[in-house]
Amino acid sequence: MFALYVFALYVFALYVFALYVFALYVFALYVFALYVFILYVNYSNGSLSNSINPLYQATWVIHSQFTIHNSKMNRRQFIQLMAIAGATGLLPKSSFAAQKLPTDIYEVPPFGQIRLLHITDCHAQLLPVYYREPHANLGIGERRGRAPHLVGDKLLQHFGIQPNSLEAHAFTHLNYIDAAHKYGKVGGFANLATLIKRLRDSYGGKTLLLDGGDTWQGSGTAYWTRGQDMLGATNLLGVDVMTGHWEFTYRAEEVLANIKKFTGEFVAQNVFVKEEALFDNAPAFDEDSGLAFKPYTVRDLGGSLVAVIGQAFPYTPIANPARFIPDWTFGIRENELQKLVNQIRLQEKPDVVVLLSHNGMDVDLKLAARVSGINVILGGHTHDGVPHPTEVKNNGGITLVCNAGSNGKFIGVLDFAVKNGQVKDYQYRLLPVFSNLITADVEMQAYIDKVRAPFRNQLHEKLAVAEEVLYRRGNFNGTFDQLICDALRVQGDAQIALSPGFRWGTTVLPGQDITLEHVLSQTAITYPQTYVRNMSGKNIKLILEDVCDNLFNLDPYRQQGGDMVRVGGMDYVCDPTQSMNQRISNMTLDDGTSVDMNKQYKVAGWATVGNQSKGKPVWEVVVDYLRDRKTAKLDKLNTPKIL
Ligand SMILES: [Zn+2]
Repeated sequence: MFALYVFALYVFALYVFALYVFALYVFALYVFALYVFILYVNYSNGSLSNSINPLYQATWVIHSQFTIHNSKMNRRQFIQLMAIAGATGLLPKSSFAAQKLPTDIYEVPPFGQIRLLHITDCHAQLLPVYYREPHANLGIGERRGRAPHLVGDKLLQHFGIQPNSLEAHAFTHLNYIDAAHKYGKVGGFANLATLIKRLRDSYGGKTLLLDGGDTWQGSGTAYWTRGQDMLGATNLLGVDVMTGHWEFTYRAEEVLANIKKFTGEFVAQNVFVKEEALFDNAPAFDEDSGLAFKPYTVRDLGGSLVAVIGQAFPYTPIANPARFIPDWTFGIRENELQKLVNQIRLQEKPDVVVLLSHNGMDVDLKLAARVSGINVILGGHTHDGVPHPTEVKNNGGITLVCNAGSNGKFIGVLDFAVKNGQVKDYQYRLLPVFSNLITADVEMQAYIDKVRAPFRNQLHEKLAVAEEVLYRRGNFNGTFDQLICDALRVQGDAQIALSPGFRWGTTVLPGQDITLEHVLSQTAITYPQTYVRNMSGKNIKLILEDVCDNLFNLDPYRQQGGDMVRVGGMDYVCDPTQSMNQRISNMTLDDGTSVDMNKQYKVAGWATVGNQSKGKPVWEVVVDYLRDRKTAKLDKLNTPKIL
C-alpha cells in the first residue's frame, strides 16, 4: 500500500515537472516568435545571408536614434514593438549610444541586395570643419512645418531624436558652441574615405557611391586648382556617379576636361546643347537629342540592376553666370524625365531607378508626386540634413525623397531589398561624419596634404580672432555674412551692403583664429569681384523682392537659387507668405532713417551674375578688414523682422 502511495506521489511529481517544462516551452516559443518578428521587420525580402549577427542588428535597428523608417512598419507598430521588446527583457533598456563605443554608430546592418551611398554638396571641404545647421528654414504653403522645413526642437520631436545627444548636435543648431566643443569637427575626406570603405566592405562591395554635386567649389584650393583637387579626391574616394551645379561655374571647356578625368560617370538628363551651338559643332553627348551629358547609367550590383539618372541644378544659368557655359541650357525637364524613366524601365529592366538630383528638396518633393517610376530621389542643393526619407505617393507607387546635408557632414546609406524587379523594402540611415570618431584614411590624407602643400602657409594665415560664433546657413542673415557686409561697407564707404544667400560656408567658433582658409570657405567663387554703386531705394527693394520670390514662391518649381540675399546696414520687414513685390516693407537704415524709394544710396556688393564687376575679389576686402581690426566683433546683426 505504501509503495503504491509513493508511486502515486512520484507520478504526480512527474506531472508537475512536465507542466513546468511545458510552460518553459511556451515561453521559449513566445521569445522565438518575437525574435522572428524583429528579423522580419529588419530583413523582410532581404537576404539573411548578408547578416553577421542578426539579433545584434535587429536590436540595433530598434534602438538607434537616427534609425530606419521602414516601409513595412508604421510609427504605432514601431512603438508597440519597442514596448513588447522591452517587456521581455530581450533588448537593453538604455539607448544604444549610451552603451556602445561611439564608433558603433557607424555599424549599419546590411539589408537587402543593393546599397547606395550618397554624399552631396561637400563644397570642396577636404578637411574636417565646424558646420552649424540653420536656425531658420521657413516652408511656405503646404510645405510649412514639414521636412525639410524643420529646425531645432521641432526637428528633434518630429524625428524622435533625443535632445542633447550626438544626433541632436548633428541635425540641429541647438546648444551649438558647447556641443561643437564636445563632439568636434565634422566631415573631412580622409575620415569619409574610411567610413565609405567600411560601409562598402560590410556589404560585400555591392554598393554604389553617388555624389550629388557642388563638389568642385567652395574652398581656396578648389578655386586655385579649378576644381582639380576635388577631382583627385573624388576619384580616390571611388565616386561611381555624379551630377553638378557649381561645377558649371568653371568654363565649359574646363568642365568637359574635368569630366574626362573623372573616373566615375557624370550624368545629367536636363542639360542640353543649344541648337545654334550644335550647328557650330559644339561638343554634345548625343547630337540627335542635343543632350550635353550622358543622361543616366545602369550598374550591375551582383545581379541587381540599378539605373541612376542625373539631374543637374535646373537654374544654373540664372543663379550663376551664364557666361561661363554659353552653349548649355538647363531646366527641370519633367516631361523628358518621365519619358526617360519609362524607357529605362522598358529597355533596361532595372530593379531600382534612382534620380541623383541637385534640384533642392522642395522641387524634389513636387517632382516625386508628378513623375512615376523612380524609387528614390537622392537630393542635394538645399543642404538639408533630413534623418528619414519622405515617402511621396504618385501614379506608380511611392518615391522616396532624401537630402543628405552638406560640407561632408553626412553620408546617406540606403539599402534596398528587391525581388523580381521590384523594390520590396528599404532601410535608410543618414550618418553624421564626426571626424573624431573615425580614423583618417592614410592614402586620402596623404593626397590631401599633397594638394594643399603649395597653399598651406597662405591658407593658415591668422587674420583675426572670432569674438562670437561665425556661421552662414539660415534663410536670413548669418554672422559670417554680417562680417562680409560690414567689410564691404567699411572698405567701400557704403551705406548698404548686399551679399548673396549662398548656403555653403563653414563655421568658426568663438575664440578661434579666423584664417584665410575660413574667409575663402565663405567666398571662393569664380566671379568674386566687388562693386560699389548708387542704387535707388526702389531698385534695392526690387532686388530683395526678386530674391525673396526665388526663395518663397508657392510653386517649388519656381524657386531658383539660394537663401535670402544678406543685407548689411539696413533692416526690413518680410512677409514670406505674400506674393511677388508685396513681401518687403519698412526698409530702414542703421541710423533709423527710412529708405526713400526715390533717393540714391551707396551700395557695396559682390558676385554679380550678369556682367563682371570691376572691384577686387571679395576675400581681399574681408582680409583687409580683418587684418585692420584683429578681432571679429559684430556691432549689429541685420536680420529682417518676419511677419
Ligand atoms: Zn547647389
